[in-house]
Amino acid sequence: MKVDLGNKCVHCKEDTSFGSGKFVNRYPVYGLDPDGTGTEYDGYCCDECEQTWYDEEKYHIGIARLGSNDKDCIEEAKEIFKECYKEGKINKKRYKELIIDCVNEQKRI
Ligand SMILES: [Zn+2]
Repeated sequence: MKVDLGNKCVHCKEDTSFGSGKFVNRYPVYGLDPDGTGTEYDGYCCDECEQTWYDEEKYHIGIARLGSNDKDCIEEAKEIFKECYKEGKINKKRYKELIIDCVNEQKRI
């Protein structure tokens, strides 16, 4: 089943049309099945939901960057881990390990 939400956010189901306050930074989403129920939604993702997702995924994004074999990406990973540490998502020991991993990776490439 396909549901077209039009201007609504596929996550919070709030209106993202111009003037709604959620228009800026929205992006179109097609065929998202958020609950795995087979119902696919077309609509938008609002900036707020994107930020929430990014926050939850931040650590994993950092790990992916760390394994990217690209110096700039690893530099980004360091920033991401720094933020994770500041926000209390990872402890100091883990943070140090990750930074050492980043430095070693950058030397290796
Ligand atoms: Zn939303």
